[in-house]
Amino acid sequence: MADQITPMMKQYRHIKTGLAQDVILFFRLGDFYEMFFDDAKVAAPILDIALTKRNNVPMCGIPFHSVDAYLAKLIKAGKKVAICEQMEDASESKGIVRREITRIVTPGTVTEDNILESSRHNFLAGICRSENSVGLALLDLSTGLFMGEEEKGSIQLFRDLLRRFSPAECVIASEDMNDPELREILTDAFSGIINIGEDWTFEYEAARDNMVRHFGVHSLEGFGCEGRKAVVGAAGGVLYYVKEELRRQVGHIRSFSLRNSAEFLMLDEATCANLDLLPSRGQNTAMTLQGTLDVTKTAMGARMLRDWLARPLADLNKITERHDAVAALCENRSVMAGIRETLGRVRDLERLIMRIVSGSGNARDVRGACESLRNVPALKDLVGKLSSKLLVEIGLNMADLPELVDLIDRSIADEPPITIKDGGIIKQGYHSRLDDLRAAASHGRKWLAEYQASEQEKTGIKTLKVRHNRVFGYYIEISKGQLGNVPDHYNRKQTLVNAERFITPELKEYETKILDAQERAVALEYDLFMEVREAIVKETARIQETAGAIGRLDALTSLADRALALRYVRPVMTDGCAVRITGGRHPVVEQMPEAERFVPNDTELDCDGNQLIIITGPNMAGKSTYIRQVALIVIMAQMGSFVPADKAEIGLTDRVFTRVGASDDLARGRSTFMVEMQETANILNNATRKSLIVLDEIGRGTSTFDGISIAWAVAEYLHNHNEVKAKTLFATHYHELTDLALTMSGVKNYNVLVREKDDRIAFLRKIVPGGSDKSYGIQVARLAGMPHEVIERAKEILANLEEGELGESGQPKIAKHRSRRSKIDLAQMNLFSEKN
Ligand code: ADP
Ligand code: MG
Repeated sequence: MADQITPMMKQYRHIKTGLAQDVILFFRLGDFYEMFFDDAKVAAPILDIALTKRNNVPMCGIPFHSVDAYLAKLIKAGKKVAICEQMEDASESKGIVRREITRIVTPGTVTEDNILESSRHNFLAGICRSENSVGLALLDLSTGLFMGEEEKGSIQLFRDLLRRFSPAECVIASEDMNDPELREILTDAFSGIINIGEDWTFEYEAARDNMVRHFGVHSLEGFGCEGRKAVVGAAGGVLYYVKEELRRQVGHIRSFSLRNSAEFLMLDEATCANLDLLPSRGQNTAMTLQGTLDVTKTAMGARMLRDWLARPLADLNKITERHDAVAALCENRSVMAGIRETLGRVRDLERLIMRIVSGSGNARDVRGACESLRNVPALKDLVGKLSSKLLVEIGLNMADLPELVDLIDRSIADEPPITIKDGGIIKQGYHSRLDDLRAAASHGRKWLAEYQASEQEKTGIKTLKVRHNRVFGYYIEISKGQLGNVPDHYNRKQTLVNAERFITPELKEYETKILDAQERAVALEYDLFMEVREAIVKETARIQETAGAIGRLDALTSLADRALALRYVRPVMTDGCAVRITGGRHPVVEQMPEAERFVPNDTELDCDGNQLIIITGPNMAGKSTYIRQVALIVIMAQMGSFVPADKAEIGLTDRVFTRVGASDDLARGRSTFMVEMQETANILNNATRKSLIVLDEIGRGTSTFDGISIAWAVAEYLHNHNEVKAKTLFATHYHELTDLALTMSGVKNYNVLVREKDDRIAFLRKIVPGGSDKSYGIQVARLAGMPHEVIERAKEILANLEEGELGESGQPKIAKHRSRRSKIDLAQMNLFSEKN
C-alpha cells in the first residue's frame, strides 16, 4: 500500500511537498491517519506508537476517532500537524480518492478543548519592526481575541511585553529575524515556535490591505491604528499566516484593538513571578494571587480576571469604575448571589462560537450556545438593579437574542449526538417534511415486524426472523432444521453453518421505502442544522460582545465575592505619590491553610520623608512577606480589586519592579548573580517617581562586603537621583544598611519585631520603626534544629568575632570606615555571614 510508486504515494508526495519542512502530515487512509518517512520517525516516539515499515517506508498510524488525543500530544510537544482528509467517499470514487489538507494545527493556533487551558488565552504573535517601533499582534484563535501593542523607542520594553503574554508561537518577517536586537530578545524572552513569514505580508500597505479586507472596513481609523506601521504590519502578517498558510477559518475574528501601554500598570515578567501573581504554564494556581482572587463561574470570566491581573490599570477613572462596580455588587448581596448562580449556567461561549463559525461545531455546541444565551435576560435584569457606570455598560453590551435562542430551542434536540451526519439532531415538530420522512421510516419498521409475524404464521416456522445487515439489507433467516418448510418464492442469498438467508420481492420493495425515507431524513436534518448554524454565524459579533460582557461581569463579581469573604476594603485612589496602608495583609499568605494567624502591618510610603524604607530583621522574620504584600496591595487596587487591609490610600503607580536576591530565587532556576544585577540595572534605568520598587536581599548572590556595598550604592542612587526617586521597599538582613538613614532624609528604618528570651527568639511579625542591629542567625539556626554542639560552638566564634571587631577600631559599623579589619577577619566574617 505504501509503495513509493503507487498512485497513492504519488499523491502523498505531492501534498507533502506543499508543506513546510517541520509540519507533520496526518494522511487519511480509511479509518486511520497515517504518517510516513521522517514524519513517522518523529511522531512515533512522541505518540508512543509502533513505527513499522512497509516496502522500506517507515510509517505509523492512529485511528481517526481518537485523532484529538494524538494531536494534543504532538502539539504539546511543540509540533505542527497538517490534517489531510479524504474529500470523497472511497466507494463512490473512481481511481484514487481525492485528498486535501483541511487545516494545519500549531501550538499557537489550537482550538481543541482538550489541549487548551480554559482559564488562559493561547496566543499566536505577529512581530514587526518599523524604524524605532516594534509591533506585537496577539491572536487567540480559540476565542477570536485579536489585539496589538506597539513599543516606541525602547526595544527593550518589547522584551517585557513578550514575556508577559508568553505566546505559544510567533510569526516574524525574515528581515526582522535578521535584526540582531530583535533576534536577541526572541532568544531570551520567547520559548515558543518561531515561524518566518514572507516579508511582503508584514509591509504596511499589504498588511493594511489584508486587515481592511478581512474586517470589511474602509480604514483602520476605527481600530486606532491607521498609519501605525509596526503594529499593523504585525497584525496583517499574523492574519495572513493563519488564513493562508494554515488554511484556518477566521470568520470569528471580528475586531482588533490597539492597547496603549500607558494605560496600564507595567509589570515585568520577573515581577509577576516574584510576586506569584499567576501560575506559570501548567502550574497549580493555589499559591498565587490568581488562585486567591479567582472564583469566577465561567471560562470567559477566568480569562478576563487573568488579563486584569497581568495588566492592572494605570488610569484613575477606569480604576474607579471597577471599584464602583465591585462596591455596587458588594452592597447588593442578593443580586450578586443571583448573578453568580446564573453565571454558573453559562458555558464557554467564546470558544463555542468559534467552533460553530469555523465549521467544526456540532449540535451539542449549538445547544451549549443556546443554553448559555438563555441566561442573558436574567443577567441583564439583575445587572439593571445595580447603579454603576461599568455595570450599566455591561448590561448594554449583552444581547439576549431571543429569536435565535427560540430558533435553536425549537430546532435542535435537547441531547443531540456528537456527529452531525447521522441524524438525531433536529427536534420532532420543527419541520413537517422531516416529520413525514421519519414517520415513513418508522412506519416501515412497524411493517417489518408485522411481516415477520405473518410469514411465521404462513410458513409455520416459529424461528423465522427478519434481519438486516450492510451487505444484503433486509433478509429472512431460517435455521437449518426448518429448511424443508421454505416456500418457493423465497430467494436464497447465503448459506451459513446453521442457517440460510433469503430475500423476497416484497421485502426488497419495502426496504427501499424505509431506507430512502431514512436517508432523506438524515440529509434533511443536516441541511436544517446548517440553516440554524448560519443563523448563529450571522450573530457572531453580538454573541462575542455578549461573551465579553459576561466575562467582565464574572470577573467583577468574583472580585466582589472575594472582597466580602476575605474582608477586603475599597482603596482610596489618588494621583498623588503616597501609599498609606493600615492593617495591610498578604492576600495569599493569609489564606494558607496551615499558616499561623496573620499579623497585619501598616505602611507609609511617599516621595519625600518616606521614600526608601529599609526593613531589617533576621531570616524568617517576615520581611519578604511584608514588602511583597505592599506591592500586591497596589497591584490589586489598580486591577480594580478591593484590598486586604483596614484602610488603604494608593497613589497611582506606573510600574512595579521587584528584585529578589539570588539565593531566594533558586526555585526559579535563575540563581546567578549576573541575572540579579541585570535586573537591578533595569530597575535603576527605568523607574520613575511614580514607580514602586521592591528589593529583597539584593547583593546576596556575592560575598558579604560586595553585597553590602552594592546594596548601599543602589539605595543611594534611588534616593538621590531626581528622575528616579521611586518609592522603594528594601528588605535586607544586612543590618549595616540602617546607617543609610543617618545621612539621607528620605530613608526610614523599620525592623520586624523579634522577642528574645533566654537566648531564644520568637517572631512577632510586627513591623516597627527603627533598625535592628542583630542578625539572630544563631537563634534561627537553633529553631531550624541544628545540633546543640554546633550552636554552642557558633556562639563562641561569634563572641570572638565581636570582640575583635570592637577591640580593633571601637566602631562596630562597617560602612563608615574601610579596611578596619584584618584580611583573616574578613574571610571568616564572609564565611559566617553567608549563613546569616
Ligand atoms: P524573611 O524574608 O524575613 O526571611 P519571610 O517573609 O519569608 O521572612 O517569612 C517567613 C515566614 O513567616 C513565612 O513563611 C510566613 O508564613 C510567615 N509570616 C511572614 N509574615 C507574617 C505575618 N505578618 N503574619 C503571620 N505570618 C507571617
Ligand atoms: Mg526573605
